[in-house]
Amino acid sequence: MNFRNEFSFVQESDANDPLKSYRNKFYIPKKENGENVVYFGGNSLGLQPKSVRAYIEQELLDWEKIALAGHSQAKNPWLPYHEFLTEQTARLVGANPEEVVNMNSLTTNLHLLFVSFYRPDDKRYKILVEAKSFPSDHYAVQSQIKFHGFDPEEALLEIHPREGEDTIRTEDIEAMLEKEGDSIALIWIAGVNYYTGQAFDLERITKAGHKKGCIVGFDLAHAAGNLVMELHDWNVDFAVWCNYKYLNAGPGAIGGAFVHEMHIKDRSLPKFLGWWGHDKKTRFLMDHKYIPIDTVESWQLSNPPILMLASLKASLDIFDEAGIRNLRSKSEQLTGYLEYLINENSDKGSVKIITPSDIEQRGCQLSLRIENNGKVLYDRLMKKNVVCDWREPDVIRVAPVPLYNTFEDLWNFVDILTCSG
Ligand SMILES: *Cc1c(COP(=O)(O)O)cnc(C)c1O
Repeated sequence: MNFRNEFSFVQESDANDPLKSYRNKFYIPKKENGENVVYFGGNSLGLQPKSVRAYIEQELLDWEKIALAGHSQAKNPWLPYHEFLTEQTARLVGANPEEVVNMNSLTTNLHLLFVSFYRPDDKRYKILVEAKSFPSDHYAVQSQIKFHGFDPEEALLEIHPREGEDTIRTEDIEAMLEKEGDSIALIWIAGVNYYTGQAFDLERITKAGHKKGCIVGFDLAHAAGNLVMELHDWNVDFAVWCNYKYLNAGPGAIGGAFVHEMHIKDRSLPKFLGWWGHDKKTRFLMDHKYIPIDTVESWQLSNPPILMLASLKASLDIFDEAGIRNLRSKSEQLTGYLEYLINENSDKGSVKIITPSDIEQRGCQLSLRIENNGKVLYDRLMKKNVVCDWREPDVIRVAPVPLYNTFEDLWNFVDILTCSG
């Protein structure tokens, strides 16, 4: 990429950005003096689309005016409301519509799908995870192992970076599978690791896992809305994600789930049931004969929170219009330019980017290891109204997001990062 270390390059890039109009669809938080902050926190909480309020108000209005009748007569009827999000969700993660549903939240969905997909026996009972996985995943996986009567000390296999390296090599995952695969029931890896920003090769890991007879699931919390994925074609068994990070659906937003078509109609899979998984035509007969919906919706338990679906719908409409592939190409430019500016302008050795430089192995986020006084630097960034985050012991995570970040944001950030005052 032909980057230049000049402000004129920044101005040209922003002016020529085909997605530049999208920034104005979001509320950018402001400093006290009214200027926009530099917001690089979209990997933790995406910004609010300006359209969200109207989507939620529509549902409040129907609740106010027609209450119970809203289930069938609201402008967007509540009974099928989640279905209005299905096609867009499917396009976003590369799935068939029958394979995706928005329900519950991430860790809850993890447990619900583990009920079906982690079925250890005496020979095959281990779960392979990446080292430094997100704490919630770690706790959830440990508790699942214990729930089935196994010992996490033995059943939880962690794959680590090599000595002196920060990220995990796919060939090391493959080697581990080759060696231990026969005892591994489930592979549970993040699409993008929250700490290092490393994006894993989901297709290759799935293939290697299946070759050894393992079920392969992914936590896509940091991948959904960030990377282009083809979950169906890659034969991923199942996946979950949250919608409040790159997907901008608001704090505590409803989560997303994917189950591959090959498993959906398998009625021998154990599953926890609720009435919302029951065949829609006969759900309200309220007899006690359970007939599952023949899509991933059969994993639903409860009728969903409409207000949270409304905010997600607002966001998905924006994603669908912009297109995940277009967003990804801008993201590659943004993150590439951020990497370039840091390498050009910081003192040698003072900032180490631990996220892979290979664009196939990363999304928006760069994780910066700060050699000295990282926390002081982070505090300075905060004082100058940069929103990013600090992870002990020495990492600052920044995530320029293609929907609302600009090249100028990158320039301003690196200016503060590298000034020694
Ligand atoms: C953000 C994140 C979570 C959060 O879990 P919730 O159930 O939504 O609170 C879990 N796992 C990963 C990998 C995450 O990045």
